Amino acid sequence: MGQLVAAGVATIDGELGGDPAVIGAEGLTVAATSHRLLLEGKHLHTWCGFDTVGIPAALAVDAVAATTCPSCGGEIVLALPGGQPPASSVVGWWPQVSGPVNESFCPVAGLFCSQEHVTTWRAANLSSRGEALSLIELAERGRSTWSLFTEPGDTP
Ligand SMILES: [Zn+2]
Repeated sequence: MGQLVAAGVATIDGELGGDPAVIGAEGLTVAATSHRLLLEGKHLHTWCGFDTVGIPAALAVDAVAATTCPSCGGEIVLALPGGQPPASSVVGWWPQVSGPVNESFCPVAGLFCSQEHVTTWRAANLSSRGEALSLIELAERGRSTWSLFTEPGDTP
């Protein structure tokens, strides 16, 4: 449990030395966040905007993703039948960071209304290194990121 928390792939409620409850793992969380996922009829929250697209893509299940554009604050809602992203101007920021994924990657891995809104956000966040990716590219990264959950024999 300590290793999972240190790596940022699990979050807990309570002290490690006690009897903590796991409240988040690999992007899904029971804690309220601004990123929501309706996954096969279940209402869930995720750690970041990328999760809302990547997890349904990896699982190839029907989903509705909802998140907020970090640039304009507008709500972004995407229907993902079979986990497939729609044709859309929405793009995601893929940060290049190091450290625990939930503390370094997730806070800036958002979905934006358009490339223009990424450009606006970047002007105020010049220190954030990374790349803007289309929804199709984000779905591909999702299938790779969560492949362990569909191919248990794969090595990390
Ligand atoms: Zn926007």
